[in-house]
Amino acid sequence: MIIQGQEIFSPVKLKTHTLVIGSGSGGGVAAYHMASAGLDTVVLEEGGYFQARDFNQREEDMMSVLYRSGGNQTTADGLITVFQGSAFGGSTLVNTADATPIEPEVLHHWQRQYGLDQLTEEALAASYERVYTMTNVHRLEDRILNRNNLILVETAKRLGYKAGVFNSNRKGCIGSGYCFTGCAYDAKQGTNLTYLPKASALGARIYTDVRVDRIEPLSGGRYRVHASVLERFNRAVRLPMTVEAERIIMAAGTVHTPAILKRSGLDRGLPQLGRNLSLQPQMVMSASFDKSEAMTSWRGAPQSAYVNEWDDNRPEWGLGGFRMEGAGGLVGLLAQSSKAIGHEHKRIMQEYPNTAYTAILVPDHPTGTMSWDWDDNGRVKPRIDYTPTAEWKQRLINGMKQSAKFMFEAGARRVDFNTAVLPSFTNPDQLSKIDDLPIEPGLMNLVSAHPQGSCRVGLNADVGVVDQNLKLHNLDNIYIVDGSVMPTTASTHTMIPIMVMSDRIMHKLANEG
Ligand SMILES: Cc1cc2nc3c(=O)[nH]c(=O)nc-3n(C[C@H](O)[C@H](O)[C@H](O)COP(=O)(O)OP(=O)(O)OC[C@H]3O[C@@H](n4cnc5c(N)ncnc54)[C@H](O)[C@@H]3O)c2cc1C
Ligand code: SF4
Repeated sequence: MIIQGQEIFSPVKLKTHTLVIGSGSGGGVAAYHMASAGLDTVVLEEGGYFQARDFNQREEDMMSVLYRSGGNQTTADGLITVFQGSAFGGSTLVNTADATPIEPEVLHHWQRQYGLDQLTEEALAASYERVYTMTNVHRLEDRILNRNNLILVETAKRLGYKAGVFNSNRKGCIGSGYCFTGCAYDAKQGTNLTYLPKASALGARIYTDVRVDRIEPLSGGRYRVHASVLERFNRAVRLPMTVEAERIIMAAGTVHTPAILKRSGLDRGLPQLGRNLSLQPQMVMSASFDKSEAMTSWRGAPQSAYVNEWDDNRPEWGLGGFRMEGAGGLVGLLAQSSKAIGHEHKRIMQEYPNTAYTAILVPDHPTGTMSWDWDDNGRVKPRIDYTPTAEWKQRLINGMKQSAKFMFEAGARRVDFNTAVLPSFTNPDQLSKIDDLPIEPGLMNLVSAHPQGSCRVGLNADVGVVDQNLKLHNLDNIYIVDGSVMPTTASTHTMIPIMVMSDRIMHKLANEG
């Protein structure tokens, strides 16, 4: 049963066995496993319930209702825009459906550096299989690859570089290109179309437009959760809701799960809460080709190919280096984020049809921290402090130079980066100018769709917030299954890694009852 906030007209008091907070990658998987074990399950999701018919493919309408802060959440210094979905299905509703596993080098790093002996390839294998089956993960069909992405694969092949086409969780995709604003064709197999409807059919009660505010411990290891039923669009508080539960599964995402614990006063004995944040920031690059070379980045699967020639496996941090990935599908955002103004901006947008967009993804170190305030309405105001390390900046600069060189090899006439302090590049000899690029707020905008690590797994509370079973170190019967539990960045796209981490423990709990 799915109950939307607008269907609730008086205060609500519920009792359940398991309460899941958040309905994205981690929460959707959890809800399904709990419901399939026959446990009474309630899901509370702050965002609204949207279906295919609601996605009108207009950025100006969809961003404000499907994304946290309308897609305008940034780090405290404004350097990085941090995208998170906030709706039934969480970020899986708005992502580009690239399905990538946690790289073995990363797992090895977690085992070596943090002693996480339960996070092995063998231990996760069954979870991958279950998640891949549920979400229909397969290699993207060639018919939905656009030129913007194909040019990466073709050029890499010619140069002898490592590259590939992404696996994806789609079914019946027509390549409309609108993944970021919700799939109007029910093709993208996010939790909104897979785990959540199945959980609902198995008896889970899923409430949307309901924000969890705090958790109150009761006797006997049980909890009472205090929540607010919200207005759909402005998220003003309408009504109170409480839910008593024997078990709580937190999946409100990397920014909001630790906020709930903090507001509840449950952070005592958890010194790592809100620390060790990775954002895995990306730099967007545009490469203009001759008019005759249509790139059509707004059609087809937006992000469907990658070049992984520059992966760099280092025991001290797992996977380093950088990756080039096709990007596209959000013309408004690309226009807005271009640092050019006036005639120069006009020129860039006139060249949009024959411009290839690429994101340079640079795995980072877990150096960020978070803190939170709450307004009188109980709305959380997160503060994300994140300064990239010097080593990371060096990899970004190298990534920008190599990626630009790559696009010139592909036939680009001009390459631009999302920063006002670099000129347009018209040949590879000019690229040394990138060496001195100051990576500073105000001079550029980086993007992150992969916040991770604010409640990381650790063997004890000195290093982590949850143990290897994803249970809080300081309390029984509270688990965290979202992106916040990653010990360091998964060094790749995070949907499948989070689903798999959640599945491993939720499947186990479901079998234990
Ligand atoms: C634009 C975009 C593109 C992406 N593309 C890809 C991709 O192609 N491939 C990939 O692997 N990954 C991608 N990702 C990343 C991936 O989708 C996310 O990392 C992943 O879904 C995060 O899972 P999660 O469970 O941590 O949180 P989410 O999926 O973000 O879900 C958290 C949910 O909790 C809800 N919530 C928050 N606070 C509360 C509260 N107090 N009470 C109740 N509910 C609350 C939120 O509204 C949200 O719906 C993308 C992300 C974005 C934003
Ligand atoms: S490309 Fe279009 S049809 Fe395919 S998953 Fe994305 S939004 Fe859906």
